[in-house]
Amino acid sequence: MDAGVTIPRRETKQIFVGKVAVGGGAPVTVQSMTTTKTADVEGTLQQIYALAAAGCDIVRCTCNELEAAEGLAHIVPRSPIPVIADIHHQYKMALAALDAGVHGLRLNPGNIRKPDHIKAVASEAKDRGVPIRIGVNGGSLDPELYEKYGGRVTPEAMVESALSEIAYFDEVGFDLVKISVKASNVPLMVEAYRQLAEATDYPLHLGVTEAGPLPEGIVKATAGIGALLLEGIGDTIRYSLTADPVEEARAGKVLLEALGLRERTGVDLIACPSCGRAEVDVIAVANAARDAFADREIPLQIAVMGCVVNGPGEARDADLGIAAGRHRGHLFVKGKNVAVVPEDEMVETLVEWAEFISEHGAEAALARVDTEKAAREAEKDRLALLDEQGDDANASGQKVELIRQRGE
Ligand code: SF4
Repeated sequence: MDAGVTIPRRETKQIFVGKVAVGGGAPVTVQSMTTTKTADVEGTLQQIYALAAAGCDIVRCTCNELEAAEGLAHIVPRSPIPVIADIHHQYKMALAALDAGVHGLRLNPGNIRKPDHIKAVASEAKDRGVPIRIGVNGGSLDPELYEKYGGRVTPEAMVESALSEIAYFDEVGFDLVKISVKASNVPLMVEAYRQLAEATDYPLHLGVTEAGPLPEGIVKATAGIGALLLEGIGDTIRYSLTADPVEEARAGKVLLEALGLRERTGVDLIACPSCGRAEVDVIAVANAARDAFADREIPLQIAVMGCVVNGPGEARDADLGIAAGRHRGHLFVKGKNVAVVPEDEMVETLVEWAEFISEHGAEAALARVDTEKAAREAEKDRLALLDEQGDDANASGQKVELIRQRGE
């Protein structure tokens, strides 16, 4: 379903990480980071392929030792997506990664602080046309800035760290830059990015650092990244989860699709939360539907609804849906009933119809069945359920009455 609402995006400069554009109106991209030793070429490539399949557009690998840089020399030419080298402490590793042919660097200004080192890396990157992310991190902020701002990590301190790095880059005429100001504290991170967005027009890489394990990590990262994206801030994103990095790529892709910032390739599954009216185990059916559609590239919105009393109406904007009646499922397309199937065939029927609609369109799907007959069957179940359960299946009215009586 296209709600027709688009989010205006902040205007920024554009850079290219390999062939992938970042900023300047390019689609927001998803990043992740490998967890293998970079020297393990085959293991790292395997993870990169899995990440790319899960929706990752750009991957980062640590370059913390010479063996890692040598690994990158083999990984970069075989990677299906651009590779960025993550550099901390040792500027020489940045130079080695550039020799390895990486498509981008990430430098942490909190731990590579000598101006000569920063400028040496920027000059070399400039000669090769390779972009650098200035990756400020609340946890490893430049100690001088930490002191200057009263022994605290503040949004102002993080922004100042990024701007000082840009000043060094300016000295050597380097401007292939994107910036991040990550923190594990969500309000701090959001405010730092807001201030940064005011202060520069470089593209921004969003992230809540050390967000943690699932599901808390996803919630925290989504709160921060989602809030900023809805304000039009952010050009590339990374979920930093304590989980298989494939989960990071999936989460990033789902968020961008949910915000309408990325074209959907798979199903948008919606499902009711279930209630006293439910005629099936909605959680089980929704999970089975999610698994059934997981590897299918069907960009439709599909609804799983627990009852035919309210389901078809509430999900009438979905391309396709199913609502439970009495031991059977009522299938509907764009709010119109099309078929009745036994309860245990609900998911496979959804898949069949989704494939048909994806290939031939909803009109063709509606044309092949007797929608009036299906609507009559649905109405029969709806009335029977209303008769059994009444309008108030959760008996809320009765409970309220009881509460009032006691209070008198
Ligand atoms: S009323 Fe029906 S569709 Fe709505 S939450 Fe309850 S079971 Fe689901």
